[in-house]
Amino acid sequence: MQHITILGATGSIGVSTLDVIARHPDRYSVYALSAHSRVDELAAQCRQFRPKVAVVGSAAAADQLAALLRAMELDTEVAWGEQALCDIASAAGVHAVMAAIVGAAGLAPTLAAARAGKKVMLANKEALVMSGQLFMDAVAASGATLLPIDSEHNAIFQCLPANYGRQLAPAGVTKILLTASGGPFLKRAVETLDAVTPAEACKHPKWVMGRKISVDSATMMNKGLEVIEAHWLFGAPADRIEVVIHPQSVIHSMVSYEDGSVLAELGNPDMRTPIAHALAYPERIASGVAQLDLTQVGTLQFEKPDFKRFPCLALAYDALRAGGTAPALLNAANEVAVQAFLDERIGFRQIDRVIAAVMDELPHGPASSVDAVLAQDAAARAAAGRAIAALGQPLKAATA
Ligand code: NAD
Ligand code: MG
Repeated sequence: MQHITILGATGSIGVSTLDVIARHPDRYSVYALSAHSRVDELAAQCRQFRPKVAVVGSAAAADQLAALLRAMELDTEVAWGEQALCDIASAAGVHAVMAAIVGAAGLAPTLAAARAGKKVMLANKEALVMSGQLFMDAVAASGATLLPIDSEHNAIFQCLPANYGRQLAPAGVTKILLTASGGPFLKRAVETLDAVTPAEACKHPKWVMGRKISVDSATMMNKGLEVIEAHWLFGAPADRIEVVIHPQSVIHSMVSYEDGSVLAELGNPDMRTPIAHALAYPERIASGVAQLDLTQVGTLQFEKPDFKRFPCLALAYDALRAGGTAPALLNAANEVAVQAFLDERIGFRQIDRVIAAVMDELPHGPASSVDAVLAQDAAARAAAGRAIAALGQPLKAATA
């Protein structure tokens, strides 16, 4: 029996993880669940999965949850705050941690799981983007098993040799081909993007996801973050990671080898496949995802990304090449800009401008410690706030 902690249990990935776990009560039991503020949903999950601990984001939320659990006569312990998240990620007896908090908020607990030598199932790509070398060093030092949940990286992992040593050349790998759906605005006239609403940006053609990653998919910053994620996970330099637009999202990514072979992992676009893969690795279990019917899919298309349409993708490659804390700056500026867009304080095409302004303003330094990374994260958030204030009215107000 494997005891699992799920960080971000009420999110899109968290719910899909519990869906897979519920199919295999003989294999998995839930040790702990966390949610930021959706207390009712977390209480319902506690009723179904009976975790030992449940963690929320504030004392007020903890009081609410405790009252709900008492009414259900559950003896789940309630805790709140970052230290509590780190505790459930590193607790003795926990075999595996699903890191599915969105954004920088997930860094500390995800790192805690890595340092404690857990099996870390990594959905929270922002944590790795921010702390790349430090995170990979923590995994190596503790002997943790790091398994990617991001569908692209999970696909690449499956297409690499089993004993892959994070170096392309010895494995005969020439390129990592990261596929991208292109998001909802792949073909929309660029001049009309100023008028895009949060609802339109969150309506992804192929995947149902949380709001932040949905906006990242629309700007293609998501793919940019994934390029950086692939760099750290697979030891691939920027010029060996190529983004390929593939609107059907059936091929989840590919690895190209010296002898001309290209290996791909295919499936229906449903995150329960990579989640089940990581949960059972190296075995295979049912995920609830329908088998892929290629004759139904019919056609698979591919094209090169347009860096002018998607400036965030170029900004992410720049940050990766710059190294040090540049990816942490990029990530923090993006989180602030995306939230401002979701709050309708800036227009869609101002997201990349805010990030570019922050990258221009702040020099990056060495990512020598978690504190250094967090200091840069804070500086970038402040600079992004200033850049947003300097923009004035949302662009879309002018065009509406
Ligand atoms: P979501 O918004 O649906 O869920 C986020 C979860 O994090 C929720 O449980 C929420 O309670 C928790 N959370 C939010 N802010 C928090 C904070 N400050 N402190 C503690 N917890 C907090 O997001 P999601 O779509 O499930 O994505 C989660 C992560 O997985 C992201 O990093 C995303 O990039 C990654 N990911 C998601 C998908 C997908 O299909 N949804 C695919 C690949 C990668
Ligand atoms: Mg992905």
